[in-house]
Amino acid sequence: MADSTAPPPIDRCHECGAPLEERVVDYATRAVDPCTKRDLPVVVRGLPVLQCTKCSERVLTGAAVDRVDEERTRAILHARLRRPPCPSSVPRSLPVLFFGDLFAARIATIGLNPSDREYLDRDQRLLDGADRRFETLASLVAIKREALTAEHCRRAIETMRGYFRPGRPVYSWFRSLDRVTRGIGFRYGAGEVAHLDLVQEATQPTWSELQKERPEEARALREADLPFLLWQLQAFPLNAVVCNGRTALEEIGRLVKARPMERGEFRRITWSVGLAFVLDRPLGVVGWNLPLARAGLHAEEEEALGALLRARIEGLGTTGAQKP
Ligand SMILES: [Zn+2]
Repeated sequence: MADSTAPPPIDRCHECGAPLEERVVDYATRAVDPCTKRDLPVVVRGLPVLQCTKCSERVLTGAAVDRVDEERTRAILHARLRRPPCPSSVPRSLPVLFFGDLFAARIATIGLNPSDREYLDRDQRLLDGADRRFETLASLVAIKREALTAEHCRRAIETMRGYFRPGRPVYSWFRSLDRVTRGIGFRYGAGEVAHLDLVQEATQPTWSELQKERPEEARALREADLPFLLWQLQAFPLNAVVCNGRTALEEIGRLVKARPMERGEFRRITWSVGLAFVLDRPLGVVGWNLPLARAGLHAEEEEALGALLRARIEGLGTTGAQKP
């Protein structure tokens, strides 16, 4: 198929000019852990490359570049899963990297940290069986986070991606946010919205209590986890983030250097819309000053708030071609 706009095929080595040949190799590279800034080794097995017949220089083409990117992303996600827990992490829990399919989502809601109720029942027992929402060290039969295998990590991530799939036990906390995002035009249940947190650890006590009782630990945890959140906003192609409450809105605003565009009142809350650029990609930053659980909005008002924000977000142009 002749396509005048396609680049000419690469058939010569740019180093020495010798011909290239197709080879399938185990390709070794690195990713940088956004939290520790350390190099993570990445090996992509069975990668088709063009290799120089003389100097062994390698050239990656379209699909191979995507696979290397995927493996780098995977290495960073696995490193976060393997980071040791904090003193206040729910015992035998794993950090929640995302709720729902961040790989496919168009927008993400943002909160403080996962509730301990994502892992524990009313009697403080680890959720199990049909009630379990995430993988745990118990469900994976793993001794500690540092010992998680690639297969453990893969399962933990698949369960996170499936959080909002029909029939799964979704925490009721998401109902209000679901109504707002429906008003915006995107649904958790359809895989269009994922949820992220400033801190990925589910803690006991809850975040607000932890900040009062052990402010040093809360600060250390926040500083350790925010770089991971920033990396997520850079690595995954989101159009907008929707921040539930003042703390989430202010932290995200600082993290991505959002420029405030518009603000207004709706019932008891003050909403705002801003625009940021992450790695040159525009990102809408939307939010309000009170967590929905305390805002006292009726269900219809939550949807109306979403509809009000929808027009503003579309005005930013970050949602690109509107979904069909
Ligand atoms: Zn060469």
